[in-house]
Amino acid sequence: MIFKCKNCGGNTVYSPEKHGMYCPFCDSEGSHERTDDSLGDLTVCPNCGGEIKLQEFTSATRCPSCDCYLILNERVEGEYAPRFILPFQLGKETCKQRIREKFKKYRFAPTDFLAEVRLNEMQGVYVPFWLYDYNAHWDYRAEGTKVRVWTSGDTEYTETSYYDVERDMDIQFRQMPVDASIQMPDDVMDLVEPFDYEQMVDFSPEFMSGFYAEKYNMEAASLEERAKKKMEEDARQLLNNTCTGYSTLRVKIRDLSVKDSQSDFGLLPVWRYLYQYGGQSYPFYVNGQTGKIVGEAPLSMKKVWAYSGTLWACLTAILVLLQVILVYI
Ligand SMILES: [Zn+2]
Ligand SMILES: [Zn+2]
Repeated sequence: MIFKCKNCGGNTVYSPEKHGMYCPFCDSEGSHERTDDSLGDLTVCPNCGGEIKLQEFTSATRCPSCDCYLILNERVEGEYAPRFILPFQLGKETCKQRIREKFKKYRFAPTDFLAEVRLNEMQGVYVPFWLYDYNAHWDYRAEGTKVRVWTSGDTEYTETSYYDVERDMDIQFRQMPVDASIQMPDDVMDLVEPFDYEQMVDFSPEFMSGFYAEKYNMEAASLEERAKKKMEEDARQLLNNTCTGYSTLRVKIRDLSVKDSQSDFGLLPVWRYLYQYGGQSYPFYVNGQTGKIVGEAPLSMKKVWAYSGTLWACLTAILVLLQVILVYI
């Protein structure tokens, strides 16, 4: 599908700044109309007939010939229909600015690293996520002691009080995220998090116009282990927080059971800037909601050498000056 402007026929996109559909060609808001040309064999743009190269999991992309944003019906509907989407809250200009601010003092980065033309290559990507809900229950029994020691005269007294510690805790976990993209490195997504899920809305394909996206690459069941581990760690922490103040705890029962669970497919917003330098790729990711940046700036050895050259020249000049001073003392 493509979203087109009713006024001028241009490609309308979702604008994070305006929180709605926008036509960059005639400046209209809310003038969009969905057209459902089939992408056929998925290699020809339905708008201009130009060739498009789709990767296995691509669900939204841009045609390199006409710059039109295409959304693939068969990859956002039926079994691939996301339940939720967190629409981009930060636009490209804001993210470019954030990257500039973060790295402006980084003197050894290559000259074009923060250049407009390079930063413009930044792409907004919706990353597929599975969001897991759990209703968990702790059944915990322990014998706790509190020990009090005091001295009176020559005698030291120890008083040990015994407690039955019982916890029956119901814990609800909502929307624990695990990314479902093979391409997106797991550690990067863990670093880009957290997202505020309060701004998540029911999925609608309009939000994808203007961005790139993937359908999920991995089934919910195959990723569940990661979510469950996160949930168990948090559950343990919550339990421990309620059992403080004892000198010792002798555990008798410690059972965490999951009463029910479910998973939903959702899309989360990330801006991606792939900077190429010296035959290497330096990826940067910006959380499309909070602006949190993940990525290491590259080092230009030319600049490092130029800097050490200057430093060396300064040192030599100081040494020469010292010699001159020493000679004339
Ligand atoms: Zn228009
Ligand atoms: Zn096209």
